[in-house]
Amino acid sequence: MGSELTSWALDLDGVIWRGTETVAGAPEAVKHLRSAGVPVAFVTNSAQRTPSQVAEKLAAHGIPDSEADVITAAMAAAELVSAGQRVLAIGSDGLTVALAGAGAEVVDAARLSPSQLALVGTVDAVAVGITEQFNYSLLAAAMRAIGNGARFIATNTDATFPAADGLLPGNGALVAAVETASGCVPEIAGKPFEPIAALVRARLGSDGLMVGDRPDTDGVFAETLGYQFGLVLTGVTSEDDLPVSPQPAYVAASLLALVEDTLGTV
Ligand SMILES: [Mg+2]
Repeated sequence: MGSELTSWALDLDGVIWRGTETVAGAPEAVKHLRSAGVPVAFVTNSAQRTPSQVAEKLAAHGIPDSEADVITAAMAAAELVSAGQRVLAIGSDGLTVALAGAGAEVVDAARLSPSQLALVGTVDAVAVGITEQFNYSLLAAAMRAIGNGARFIATNTDATFPAADGLLPGNGALVAAVETASGCVPEIAGKPFEPIAALVRARLGSDGLMVGDRPDTDGVFAETLGYQFGLVLTGVTSEDDLPVSPQPAYVAASLLALVEDTLGTV
């Protein structure tokens, strides 16, 4: 890459942090990119947090002032609905705030009782992000709404996500339940698909480097973006897994090592 200051899109889990732990050198790497004038965005498939909540978490990991640089799958899902549309949201703040920001009339399923859910009636779309409140009544409401013609939107279909004490079921597990019950396939907003790619390109331009720890999501997402793929070995992929497909343009021990390899020593 040499002196050309291409944009960097950074995955979070396995790149910046691992659960609650900061990846060594990641804050220094981001600081170096920013001081070199490299446009940076943080791109996450998690739909749980709002951009401001993600920025708070980044700040707690030593990366301040990032709210404007955060792109979430919930933001991408909100791009799929129009102002004034009625949307049954099965998710957390990250999803409901994004949908409301797009001007949708949000029916927050996680806050309704089973009897209220049974009376939701017609909606334009059902959006499934992740929520701990997921239950049979929510599933029934989603199934009926989709059966009545609502669009089925998923923020992402990640099977699991890492928590402090190990893996937890991801949004993909909830989406699969809705898919099975409704017999309908969702439109997926997050990585590696186009809706979130459009948001990344709008922020960073048409050339860039997508840095992530998973070839199957981040590497494929780099292809969707038309960016190069930078694989870091601080997440789910280790040296023993190499070579991987899609083939990365760069493989580095960590984000800091990748920054040093491409921009010079921090
Ligand atoms: Mg990751």
